[in-house]
Amino acid sequence: MSNIAFIGLGNMGGPMALNLIKAGHALRVFDLSPAALEAARAAGATVAASPAEAVQGAQTAISMLPASRHVESLYLGTDGLLAQIAPGTLVIDCSTIAPASSRKVAEAAQARGIVFIDAPVSGGTAGAAAGTLTFIVGGEAGALERARPCLSAMGKNIFHAGGSGAGQVAKIANNMLLAIHMAGTAEALALGVANGLDPKVLSEIMVKSSGRNWSLELYNPWPGVQDHAPASRGYQGGFGSSLMLKDLGLAAEASIASGSPIPLGELARNLYGLHSHAAGALDFSSIVQLYRKPV
Ligand code: NAD
Repeated sequence: MSNIAFIGLGNMGGPMALNLIKAGHALRVFDLSPAALEAARAAGATVAASPAEAVQGAQTAISMLPASRHVESLYLGTDGLLAQIAPGTLVIDCSTIAPASSRKVAEAAQARGIVFIDAPVSGGTAGAAAGTLTFIVGGEAGALERARPCLSAMGKNIFHAGGSGAGQVAKIANNMLLAIHMAGTAEALALGVANGLDPKVLSEIMVKSSGRNWSLELYNPWPGVQDHAPASRGYQGGFGSSLMLKDLGLAAEASIASGSPIPLGELARNLYGLHSHAAGALDFSSIVQLYRKPV
């Protein structure tokens, strides 16, 4: 058991924190949302009044925030959290952010004797709740070993992608592919339905055929095909379309920086750009709404 500070208790951070409590760790938590704090308190966490209060006495600090700007403003600057964290502390950032932002925070941490790793996750809110997330780590191998007991309480696959920022690069590539196969799945289902097929029957056929993919099989975008999917609960919760758009923006930045073309990634970014205007808060599988014929 260890003392852990956990900052960012949203769709992902909330259930991840609960799994750490279940594993016997003592958690001090902070979020801007009073409702998120209340849920964590009810599960046994100690609620802190600020990030600085959360990290007092912690051996490990974990953050799960929306985007680069939230992570940089949390840790950096004269009022930033790195100035409050004791040297020797392990900091694990699980947010999906720009690799350059991760490296910037890692360098600032190192200058203060603090160990920082990027550990973005895959597996969605269901994986966060079940404790079966995949962690994709960037940083020193020794730091990953220090983090392993914590990460194991929240996930079942832990990969070392490389040095600082490498976890983010792998996560961004993965999410670009996810956006492409989600949009492709939505497009194929809409085509079948518009030509008279039942979306459930078409999904069953494609899951056993060469169109099989994760979006189709485990996160079907058509309402009513899978009871557990966000599509069957009005696209509430899950992974917001605006967060997917953010990740596709990170892929575009990486493409420009490296000169590696991403024509399908750019197309997906444009689709999510259009869709997020109207539906940024809805789960990213709601992209199917762009394709469905009005009834
Ligand atoms: P979310 O919007 O549900 O949660 C973010 C939380 O951070 C909110 O509770 C918010 O109040 C809090 N927050 C924002 N700024 C803060 C600050 N300065 N201090 C403290 N708390 C602050 O987002 P999410 O879906 O939990 O995603 C978090 C990260 O995980 C994102 O980077 C996302 O891309 C990534 N991710 C999400 C999923 C998913 O399925 N939702 C899957 C994999 C990765």
